[in-house]
Amino acid sequence: MNKKEIIEKVRDAGVVGAGGAGFPTHVKLETKVEYVIANGAECEPLLRIDQQLMATQANKVIKGLKLVMEATGAKKGFIALKEKYKEAIAALTSHIPHPPSHIELFILGDFYPAGDEQILVYEVLKRIVPEGGIPLQVGVVVDNVGTLINVADTIERRPVTHRYLTISGAVKGPKSVKVPVGMSVGEVIRLAEPKINDFSVLDGGPMMGKLIEDLDSPVMKTTTGLIVLPKDHQVIMNKTLEMRKILRKTMLCMQCTDCTELCPRYLIGHSLKPHKIMRHVGYEMRKELNDITAAFLCSECGLCNLYACPFGLSPLRVNQEIKKELTEAKVKNPHKEAPEEAHSMIEYRKVPTERIISRIGIEEYNLDAPLEKREYRTNLVRISLSQHVGAKSIPTVKLNEKVKVGDLIADIPRGALGARIHASIEGKITDIGDSITIEA
Ligand code: SF4
Ligand code: SF4
Repeated sequence: MNKKEIIEKVRDAGVVGAGGAGFPTHVKLETKVEYVIANGAECEPLLRIDQQLMATQANKVIKGLKLVMEATGAKKGFIALKEKYKEAIAALTSHIPHPPSHIELFILGDFYPAGDEQILVYEVLKRIVPEGGIPLQVGVVVDNVGTLINVADTIERRPVTHRYLTISGAVKGPKSVKVPVGMSVGEVIRLAEPKINDFSVLDGGPMMGKLIEDLDSPVMKTTTGLIVLPKDHQVIMNKTLEMRKILRKTMLCMQCTDCTELCPRYLIGHSLKPHKIMRHVGYEMRKELNDITAAFLCSECGLCNLYACPFGLSPLRVNQEIKKELTEAKVKNPHKEAPEEAHSMIEYRKVPTERIISRIGIEEYNLDAPLEKREYRTNLVRISLSQHVGAKSIPTVKLNEKVKVGDLIADIPRGALGARIHASIEGKITDIGDSITIEA
C-alpha cells in the first residue's frame, strides 16, 4: 500500500494513540520522519496490557510498525520495551528478520518514566525534543504498541471498537481484558471483583492516572487500565487534596531542589525547575513570569510529588493549576529552546520502578494480571464523541437506528483534527448527546 492508502485506512478506522494520549494516528502518518519508535515501555506500575499484547500479538505489532514506517518513509523502526518483559522479547524476536534488519528491539532498564515519549526518544536515539515540542521535530514518530495493533487491523478493515486494558489494585482477580469501547467503568471493574466497598478508580496507572468520578463513565479508546484503590490510599489522597491546601503548603517548601534534580524533563535539558516554581508560588512572587511559565513544560509524570519531595509537597499539582490559570489568561508557552545536551547526571538519576512501588505503598497490588482470551460483551455502551485530541466527532446516525459492530456512528468535522467513531456492539441507538448510547 502507498502512503495515501495507509493514511486513508487508518483514518477510516478511527485509530488514535492508545497509550492514553488519543492523538489521531492518521495525522501523524502524514509526516515524513527518519525513525519510528514503538512504545512498549509501559512504565506505570500495575499496568500489564502492553507487555501482554507484545507477547501475544507480536506479529501485529510488527505489521503495524511496518505500515507506519511505510507511510512516514522511516528508514528504521525500534520497538522499545523493558528487559523484564521476557515473553514479549522472545515473541518479538521470533518475528523480526535476522540482523541487519530495518526493525530492532531497544531494551530499556526498569525505570520511570521510560514511556514518556520525550524520554523514550532520548533513550533510544539520544535526540532531545525541543521544549514544548513533539518527537516529529527531531525526525521521529512514537506510537504505542496498542496503537500499532489497531493500525495492523485496518488492513482487514477492522475499525477500533474494542479496548484491551488491565484491571488491578484492590480487586480479587487482577486481570487484563478486551471490552467494547463505551462499556461502563463500573461494569468493567466488577469483572475483577473489587475487594472493598469504599474505593476510588483511576483511569491509567497510579502515577499519572486520572480519578474517575462516576462509575457510569465509559471506557475510552485511550483507557490503558482501571486501578481500584482504597479512598484513603496516599495515591488517591494526593490526587484529591484541595488546591487551596496544596497552594498553602507551598510555603513549607525548603528549597532542597530534590524535585528538580529528579525531574525527567529537567534532566533532558529543558528549563523546567519545579523548586523555583514552588518558591515563586510559596512567596507570592508570581511576577517572575519566566519561571512560572516553565510549568508548561511539565509532563505531569508525578515523580516530584509522589517520589521526590521529602515533605510530600506537590509541584505537579501546582504546575497543573498554573497551566490552567495561564491558559485561561490566554498566555501561551514561551519556552521553545532546543537543548543540545542533557544533564550530565541523567544516567544516574533514573528512578527504579520497584522503588516507586514501595514509596507509594502499592506493593500488595503489584501482582500478575493475566490476559483473558475471551472478549467481554455488554448490553449497553455509551460511546463518547470526545475521546481523542481535536474536535468532537459529529454523529452520523439517528435515534432508533439499528447498527452493527464496526458501523460508523460519528465522523470528523470537516477540516478539523479528529477521529471517526464506530459502534462497539450491535443494537439500537437510544440516545445522542455528548456520547452515543447503543442498547443491544
Ligand atoms: S510532574 Fe514534576 S517531575 Fe514530572 S515533569 Fe512535572 S515537574 Fe517534573
Ligand atoms: S522537593 Fe519539596 S521541599 Fe524540596 S524544593 Fe521541591 S517542593 Fe520544595
